[in-house]
Amino acid sequence: MKNSLRRIDLILLAAALLFAALCGGFRYALAHFSPEKYETEIAGLNARTESVRAETLAERSETEKQLAFLRADLRNNGEEASALADRIEKLRAAEEEKEERLALLQPEARLYDDTQGAIEDARRQYALKIRELEDKILSGESSVRICYLTLDDGPTKITKQFLDAYDELGEHVHVTFFVAYGANESDDEEEMLRRELASGHSVQNHSYSHDYWGNGRVYRSLEGFREQIQLQDDWLYQVTGFHPGIFRFPGGSKMGFYLRPEAEEVFSELGYQWVDWNCNLYDAGENRRGAVEEIEVALYQVPLEEIAVVLGHDWNLATLYASKVFIPKLQEQGYVFLPLFPESAMMGMESKR
Ligand SMILES: [Zn+2]
Repeated sequence: MKNSLRRIDLILLAAALLFAALCGGFRYALAHFSPEKYETEIAGLNARTESVRAETLAERSETEKQLAFLRADLRNNGEEASALADRIEKLRAAEEEKEERLALLQPEARLYDDTQGAIEDARRQYALKIRELEDKILSGESSVRICYLTLDDGPTKITKQFLDAYDELGEHVHVTFFVAYGANESDDEEEMLRRELASGHSVQNHSYSHDYWGNGRVYRSLEGFREQIQLQDDWLYQVTGFHPGIFRFPGGSKMGFYLRPEAEEVFSELGYQWVDWNCNLYDAGENRRGAVEEIEVALYQVPLEEIAVVLGHDWNLATLYASKVFIPKLQEQGYVFLPLFPESAMMGMESKR
């Protein structure tokens, strides 16, 4: 019994001690509890939360701004792309239209080429016939005589009068015009060139500038010489659709070769021939003659040649009047007035007078 009491006592004592300890701890805790500290911590936490939220909001607004920018950019690009596509489509349509028009024009272009080719063939056949006649004359098989009347430096203001006069003389009078773009001024140059060809006359190359005195452009350099022939050829082709093939040296070949000895190289390169004359009307220069003297000169010099190449100028009225007289007179003597072509046996003939 004593033992069991003692055990209960012990238990009670332990319980009392435990209680006391618990009360002490609680008091300690109560003694150390501070509401201010708690509130400060809460306020700190709240402030941090607020700042994180502000940061998040700021980031979101930045992201939205960028998104808006990207959307606008995308829209702009889209508009640009569709404008570009429109332009490409328009260009393609224009290209197709061009091709269609080209296809329509092609037969015409071919016809033009064929016609040009046929005319050039006919001209060549004609030139070869004349060459045949020349060969017969030179070998003594034919008593026909040829007069090539050549007129330099046109077209001029009075070229039309020459053409009218030769039309009046009949369809068998043909001459050769050695034309130079820069030699003389006239308003109807291009019309005259086409009329010369349409009337069956020959149109040939007398340089582009005709500027040959002293250090003039025609003979200043080999390159310049080539250019003078080429420019004139281009101009004549542009106006008439035909290339000439004969060059007449401004001032004659003696002056030409003296100032430009390599000229032959240019001729073979360009497929050109050249020719001077063997009769001279002396209708240019300081001591040029009047119409009456020109007639005398023509009627004296031409009959000395089986094939005459006569030098004259279609800026000189005296030559117009003289030729209206000496052409019919020479025809009566058996001369035919033909156009001069590169196929002629006269090519490369130097001036005699
Ligand atoms: Zn000339």
